[in-house]
Amino acid sequence: MRDLYHGEKPPVRAPPCGKITATDITLPEERALTTTVEPTGWTDPDPTPAALLLLGRATDPDSERGVDCPGALPAASDPSLAERARVARAALGDRAFLLGHHYQRDEVIEFADVTGDSFKLAQQAAARPEAEFIVFCGVHFMAESADILTGAHQRVILPDLAAGCSMADMATFDQVSEAWDVLADAGVADVTVPVSYMNSSADIKGFTGRHGGTICTSSNAERALDWAFGRGEKVLFLPDQHLGRNTAVRDLGLSLDDCVLFDPHKPGGGLTGQQLRDAKMILWRGHCSVHGRFTLDSVNDVRERVPGVNVLVHPECRHEVVAAADQVGSTEYIIKAIEAAPTGSAWAIGTELNLVKRLALAHPDKRIMFLDKAVCFCSTMNRIDLPHLVWSLESLVAGEVVNQITVEPETARYARAALDQMLALP
Ligand code: SF4
Repeated sequence: MRDLYHGEKPPVRAPPCGKITATDITLPEERALTTTVEPTGWTDPDPTPAALLLLGRATDPDSERGVDCPGALPAASDPSLAERARVARAALGDRAFLLGHHYQRDEVIEFADVTGDSFKLAQQAAARPEAEFIVFCGVHFMAESADILTGAHQRVILPDLAAGCSMADMATFDQVSEAWDVLADAGVADVTVPVSYMNSSADIKGFTGRHGGTICTSSNAERALDWAFGRGEKVLFLPDQHLGRNTAVRDLGLSLDDCVLFDPHKPGGGLTGQQLRDAKMILWRGHCSVHGRFTLDSVNDVRERVPGVNVLVHPECRHEVVAAADQVGSTEYIIKAIEAAPTGSAWAIGTELNLVKRLALAHPDKRIMFLDKAVCFCSTMNRIDLPHLVWSLESLVAGEVVNQITVEPETARYARAALDQMLALP
């Protein structure tokens, strides 16, 4: 597997999803993560330092790989961190607006003015023109989207520049431009419409806008594909193969044979010209390190252990997992499904652990469990912690703008066109 987020000479390897296997952690009882979560509390496994060690060592501040933050962070052991965050937040008042993604740590979510998925948060950022600072507790591509959608007078801050996204990093502008040349050589570029997932860099969103495509989210991917197939014969879906495949097959009724996988690390994407001409969905070989780890075994195992359990997964999961699940939906869908679920019902959820844990604690009348036996945080999202939040807020109070995320104007213009196209989807 290609190294993601790894510095020039990483001392040890660690999974980009921050995976902690059952052997890496000590849980008082295995049931804490694999069976019912009791209302008395969720046993909260701490990510191992090794899981986070390799992030933030790249050198390009615009990259999803992230860089080390400048500045002197407060010590994580400082007992006054929460109070310092409260004081700094109060001092900024309406000048700042704090956004918190659903996968964030509790200690950060506590300070968010609004929580949501990447799309909702981008909309919320755009709806706050009076806020001078948008402090985005999410990952790099989300902060870029916020910068694209907010006014020139607003500044978007990412508290830790190491908070990137491994999926977004799997499709670079150069790779996608080369892929488009391959499509042109096969004679299909003119009939192909690019559809890019929100979880992509500003460069890829810009590429999509330049080529008349649209952005989509996990909530509107079906409508985006419908729209695209109304304009062309094929779709190039970036960068998440699973969302593309699941939407095409499950929602649009295409077959798996209609889909081909374009591997940017192989000449010609590893496909022949004829395969590209025959395909309807050209899927980019990218995936989410968190959702990609759920397997059919995880589903079969939980069904065996918990009779009557409802399996609810995110569409970034593999196709066989989605096909075996009872319900499939975006993060917002998952939250609403649990809210609407009857008391006493049992749910195994296949999405990021921080969210599943919060759902379990918010609904003690329901049996909520993580779908997999090993826990898996989004380690890049978890880079944003209280020390980084305190440091960024206190810096703003002191008049110093740190970790501002900006998108180059030409890229922003085309990316905005692709985002506007998404907002105009029927
Ligand atoms: S959960 Fe997956 S797609 Fe979302 S930020 Fe983390 S790595 Fe990226």
